[in-house]
Amino acid sequence: MKKRDMNNIEVKDRKRILILGGGFAGIEILRRLENKFVNDFTVDVNMVSKDNFFLFTPMLPEVASGMIETRHIVTPVRAFCKRARFYEATVRSIDFQKKQVTISNAIDDRNESANWHDHILDYDYLVISLGGETNFFGMEDVKKYSYTMKSLGDAIALRNHVIDMLEQASIEQDRELRKTLMTFVVVGAGFAGVETVGELNVLVRDAVRDFYHDVDIQDIRVILADAMDKVLPEVSDDLSKFAAQKLKESGIEIILKSPVSSATLYDMKLKDGTVIGTHTLVWAGGVTPEKIVKELQCEHDKGGRIIVDGYLEVKGIDGVYALGDCASITDPHTERPYPPTAQNAVEQAKVVANNLISAIRGGNKVSFNYKSRGIMAQIGKRKGVGILFGMKTHGLLAWMIWRSYYLSHLPTLEKKLRVLTDWSIDLFFKPDVTRLKTFTEIQERKE
Ligand SMILES: Cc1cc2nc3c(=O)[nH]c(=O)nc-3n(C[C@H](O)[C@H](O)[C@H](O)COP(=O)(O)OP(=O)(O)OC[C@H]3O[C@@H](n4cnc5c(N)ncnc54)[C@H](O)[C@@H]3O)c2cc1C
Repeated sequence: MKKRDMNNIEVKDRKRILILGGGFAGIEILRRLENKFVNDFTVDVNMVSKDNFFLFTPMLPEVASGMIETRHIVTPVRAFCKRARFYEATVRSIDFQKKQVTISNAIDDRNESANWHDHILDYDYLVISLGGETNFFGMEDVKKYSYTMKSLGDAIALRNHVIDMLEQASIEQDRELRKTLMTFVVVGAGFAGVETVGELNVLVRDAVRDFYHDVDIQDIRVILADAMDKVLPEVSDDLSKFAAQKLKESGIEIILKSPVSSATLYDMKLKDGTVIGTHTLVWAGGVTPEKIVKELQCEHDKGGRIIVDGYLEVKGIDGVYALGDCASITDPHTERPYPPTAQNAVEQAKVVANNLISAIRGGNKVSFNYKSRGIMAQIGKRKGVGILFGMKTHGLLAWMIWRSYYLSHLPTLEKKLRVLTDWSIDLFFKPDVTRLKTFTEIQERKE
């Protein structure tokens, strides 16, 4: 007897699409496939992702500074699933031959001896959109002693730590120690680093002015460091200079052409021998694909990203697509790889969704040929910098465009309203310096 499912569809006729990663790329594909196949029971769409929410990273630095409430920049993946199935789990391995993906979940991952459960998912079409992880360039000490800015947990941890530093500095009698407590270093002058340093600077200076009267404002040092010779390498030289000048005017020191060589709990060292005493090192030095992506049996670029063809299919492997930060896609306009941005990930997702629909329903495949409409960054309080449709813009106007653009792209009306309310409240009130103890800290205290 033929095997049929509850909708009376023969199981072998069903096409299974499996999306790995619920970030910018994965969610955009999920939404588009849901719209197309919601009433088509011959197509199954499944998604696996580590977290059960979609994180809107461009607003992450504002969570770290407390400008936006933590849950306002995340949306549950299940809110996008009309018929699609979602599994909160970690992708462990991908077998292109058997067309299977192994995923694991832990019943209690707070426990080191957590009982990991493996499950196997079959697919006919696979989408790899697993993003990337922070690249420490092999510096284990930097990895151990730095904060990162990649996840919601990172933003919460950094905010708590910065407020802790303010509390410690306010009781510290030793001037030199107080100065190191009040020194905050962000490494990486790309978008994530620049936006993080801008937010951190505003938080620390506003908090000292409004609440920490024992701390001398002159003791505050906020530093942006990078191995490159300019901030925001993605923008033209004059905009980069403008951004650097505005950062300096707001009190941020900029150290360029100075790679980091090591770090401890109390300081960091640059390759030229300079030692900076600090208890806060934030590492935003770049992203690299996860090990599972780097070890896949397919072509990779020298950074370990999956090489795909113009249709965003993994070279030599039918029915498997890769996109976003984990894929290497050559820009036909510049002959260089597209940079890892949310904007590119979303545009690539539109192409992959179209090509999946064409593969199942029949239709034309399209190739990825995107020309960026612009690029924008916030560089502190009411200041921005960017290029839009070829026009350079900076200052208050750029900041307003940044805010309107990203607000319009934040999923769901509810989250848009919540963020708008957070921004409005910030105009009238002092910063919130509540330090919430994290789960780990509470556990440590109990032991
Ligand atoms: C602080 C910060 C600010 C940024 N600002 C901007 C900006 O202003 N503009 C801009 O264009 N870009 C910005 N970016 C870059 C942007 O976030 C990325 O380019 C974009 O998220 C890439 O999308 P993606 O779908 O490829 O990956 P992601 O959005 O990173 O999604 C990957 C998903 O895969 C999941 N995942 C990873 N590994 C596994 C696994 N093994 N198993 C299961 N799930 C897994 C992750 O949990 C995540 O949900 C910023 C990034 C950061 C960190």
